[in-house]
Amino acid sequence: MKRRALLVQSGSLVLSLGLPELSWGATIVNVRIWPAPEYSRVTIESDAALSAKQLFVANPPRLAVDIEGIRLNPALKELVAKVKADDPNIAGIRVGQFTPTTVRLVIDLKQPIRPQVFTLAPVAAYQHRLVLDLYPEQEADPLEALIADQVREQKAAPPAGSSNSSNATATAPPGSADPLADLIAQKLMPGKPFPLSSATAASSANDAEDPRANSSGTERLIIIALDPGHGGEDPGAIGPAGTREKDVVLRLAHLLRDRINNSAVHGNTMRAYLTRDADFFVPLGVRVQKARRVQADLFVSLHADAFFTPDPQGASVFALSQGAASSSAARWMAARENKADQIGGLNVKTKDATVQRALLDMSTTAQINDSLQLGSTLLGEIRRVGKLHKGRVEQAGFAVLKAPDIPSVLVEAAFISNPSEEIKLNSETYQNQLADALMRGILAYFARNPPLARVRATS
Ligand SMILES: [Zn+2]
Repeated sequence: MKRRALLVQSGSLVLSLGLPELSWGATIVNVRIWPAPEYSRVTIESDAALSAKQLFVANPPRLAVDIEGIRLNPALKELVAKVKADDPNIAGIRVGQFTPTTVRLVIDLKQPIRPQVFTLAPVAAYQHRLVLDLYPEQEADPLEALIADQVREQKAAPPAGSSNSSNATATAPPGSADPLADLIAQKLMPGKPFPLSSATAASSANDAEDPRANSSGTERLIIIALDPGHGGEDPGAIGPAGTREKDVVLRLAHLLRDRINNSAVHGNTMRAYLTRDADFFVPLGVRVQKARRVQADLFVSLHADAFFTPDPQGASVFALSQGAASSSAARWMAARENKADQIGGLNVKTKDATVQRALLDMSTTAQINDSLQLGSTLLGEIRRVGKLHKGRVEQAGFAVLKAPDIPSVLVEAAFISNPSEEIKLNSETYQNQLADALMRGILAYFARNPPLARVRATS
């Protein structure tokens, strides 16, 4: 410490001699902010590892972070202007040189948060990253988000005679004035009090045989989890003209969501649930966890990846493999997708990081068989609007397909690395055709596999 202070004092001399800035631990090279309702992230990228101490002050809510061994520079000052007015969590950021060797960042917050401050070693195009993840203290529940969506839609077009129940939540009792909330409640607790614990589900033999038998003949909500790949720090693949995979797949997810929300299968209303509906990083294990939380009937992960040469083209559909991959290309693709957590920036010290490992060996043969069926139905429809890379569903160990109880596929819509496919991916016409094809595939799957017969344990 003393040595550093000495060097600091002589810093101007060192600089004037044109010597490298050895006195400083790191230089900030870039800053980024990723706002989202689930959490807002501040990333500070530097050419050497940073060390930081944080202090959360509850009233008014703010987070002070002292970063040691750096000087305030223009790159770091950019943080102040990068805060968006509609950031759900961050009200503003102030930065200043707190001591000669410490920069203090004060993040003013819109609500109380649980901060996670951690560092990431260099990976892909990134140098060292110091990450400040700001999670609202009131944790977002995927199920409540889904219901809030319903309520919003319902308000936009209120059915005749509906009450203005503005506060429907997951705990809305059956028989309340909100039919959509009822549907969801019913989906989650066919004849059972909410919430149905995993212990209850596992201990009841009847549940195992007949978990959501629809003996009453009432409507059940069919939920399709759509999983736009990548996001936030992880752009996914980038096309030769600069198109980012994370943007293309979110757009495709929105188009497919519109179609799903206007569809029904065997008289059952369908609803889409997006594992990410903004440009932020969602760990692979959390994507699976979210789909299970809403008890999705299907999980469709959307991608548009690159190959290391520009030639490959056409769409592919993948299912999980519990053993070897079906081809070396499939294995390569899975390894590439599974890297998303490293690039996106997973905090390995949190429980999120363990979720994936816990799910690792739980997948069942039945899930994979259903996924293969879903995959080939989707391929059959995609074939009608575009080229296929492989005519059959490929299999490999994709981490995001590991929900043990939800048929799960990963759709590579096209190769973004192929210049003509990149153009197609950006074309509104092709996006709509693709969304139509996926919708037809989903409906065709349900036509052959009625959703009501599905057996599932909750968790
Ligand atoms: Zn991808």
